[in-house]
Amino acid sequence: MSTTNIAIDGPAGAGKSTMAKIIADKLGYIYIDTGAMYRAVALYAIQRNIDTNDVEKIRSILDHIDIDIKYDEDGQVILLNGQDVTKEIRTPEVSVGASNVAAIPEVRLKLVELQRKLATENNVIMDGRDIGTYVLPNANIKIFLTASVEERARRRYEEMIAKQYSCNYEDIKKEIEYRDRNDSSRAFAPLTIADDAVVIDTSNNKLEQSVEMILQVIKERLS
Ligand code: C5P
Repeated sequence: MSTTNIAIDGPAGAGKSTMAKIIADKLGYIYIDTGAMYRAVALYAIQRNIDTNDVEKIRSILDHIDIDIKYDEDGQVILLNGQDVTKEIRTPEVSVGASNVAAIPEVRLKLVELQRKLATENNVIMDGRDIGTYVLPNANIKIFLTASVEERARRRYEEMIAKQYSCNYEDIKKEIEYRDRNDSSRAFAPLTIADDAVVIDTSNNKLEQSVEMILQVIKERLS
């Protein structure tokens, strides 16, 4: 039996994970946050004082890293060598580190293998940067979510404050701009819009409006 795959791509802070979770719940699909996998690789390096831009070093540690996901009542749990690191991967340092390690082809190939396996076995909504272009080029539906950098930074700032992380808006904006540049300019599977993706700019939308727009696209494409 073949599965249904929905790809949601876009830059940091466009609202991918929030919306993908809501839609996955509505449709009874599994939500897969691929960014968490890159974050876990970065965390492993950071915990060992390894520079996330040191390509040779990062390549050499890959065989010691096992990434997996499971689900509990709060959603996706990310496991790094069997340890739950779901909370630890959300710091700004890990965000930047994830963008650095994500430029290394060997890192991507390792994680893409897991992502494709999950999509073959389940109906999934998978979010990331290269899902529609590289990981699941035959996805049934491809959405590209975007928003202005100011709006994305504002949303991320409010999210962090709500979770009681200490942070400031300007630093978050700089981090997002850095990742936008890094993610769009890497040679292997960069952040780009798939030819057959539906682009939704969420800058002036309320969350419910964007969710409704995505649900509409899904309805049209799956009918
Ligand atoms: O989505 P999130 O912000 O958690 O992703 C962290 C970083 O992981 C991104 O900035 C990007 O560099 C990388 N990433 C990627 N490909 C994906 C998902 C995330 O390169 N499919």
